[in-house]
Amino acid sequence: MSATYPVSERNRVRRLHERGCHDHEAVHAILDAAMLCHIAYVIDGQPYCTPTAFWREGEHLYWHGSSASRMLRAQGPGLPVCLTVTHLDGLVLARSAFNHSVNYRSAMCFGTARFIDDLEEKVRALDAMIDRFYPGRNVTLRPTTAQELKATAVVGMTIEQASAKVRAKGVADDEEDLGLPIYAACFPVTQVIGPAEPCPHMPAEVSYPPGLAGYTPDRRLDELMTETSQMSYPKADD
Ligand SMILES: Cc1cc2nc3c(=O)[nH]c(=O)nc-3n(C[C@H](O)[C@H](O)[C@H](O)COP(=O)(O)OP(=O)(O)OC[C@H]3O[C@@H](n4cnc5c(N)ncnc54)[C@H](O)[C@@H]3O)c2cc1C
Repeated sequence: MSATYPVSERNRVRRLHERGCHDHEAVHAILDAAMLCHIAYVIDGQPYCTPTAFWREGEHLYWHGSSASRMLRAQGPGLPVCLTVTHLDGLVLARSAFNHSVNYRSAMCFGTARFIDDLEEKVRALDAMIDRFYPGRNVTLRPTTAQELKATAVVGMTIEQASAKVRAKGVADDEEDLGLPIYAACFPVTQVIGPAEPCPHMPAEVSYPPGLAGYTPDRRLDELMTETSQMSYPKADD
């Protein structure tokens, strides 16, 4: 497998191209650090962009939802989609409005969405989703009923093309502005896990699951997602 996605006019990074790349490794790292994505698609000429949870297995991306979901019903038979992930890493305040910026890691993946129709594959995918976010949790759960399975649709796509774009630096002002008496700085931004709020209905004997050891207060979500992804798919499929 090539270490780089094929590049065409669809995914060639033109604007600030030095921030972009098409490496599998770079794209996968951005995807795996996230739980959420936005999926863009067009139905009858109308563009939609739907935020949802997703997960990656090798070159396959999956998402799920209600079988009644318009998004899934439209995508399932085979619809071109663009799935994006964004991590906001910093706010960059420069000495001019023009030079304000943000630090980020983002990925755009292109492919064709399709229903996972095969029942065995659908069950496997849904189990994999739970374990990808919460390692080892699936076997501890009440089994999914046939009705729940029927009410759930799983859609997947193979990444045909992709790109990654990253800004990771401080204030980039014009040389002649550096001496101006204007406050300039970068504010790092991170999303972190808060303390667990246990459900009050839980029987007293229930203990904290070992698979959730990484879910500690103040743990960075992107680092945790990367870790749980590697626990689920500790592999050579990249
Ligand atoms: C958090 C965040 C905030 C941003 N704020 C701004 C802003 O305020 N103004 C602004 O102009 N831009 C902003 N950007 C950058 C923006 O995402 C685009 O890269 C930029 O607007 C250029 O778009 P384009 O379609 O002209 O790029 P082009 O280079 O023409 O896009 C061509 C191809 O390059 C790839 N590509 C482009 N952008 C990205 C990306 N971000 N991630 C992965 N692949 C990409 C895609 O494959 C795309 O099809 C921001 C990005 C992020 C993540």
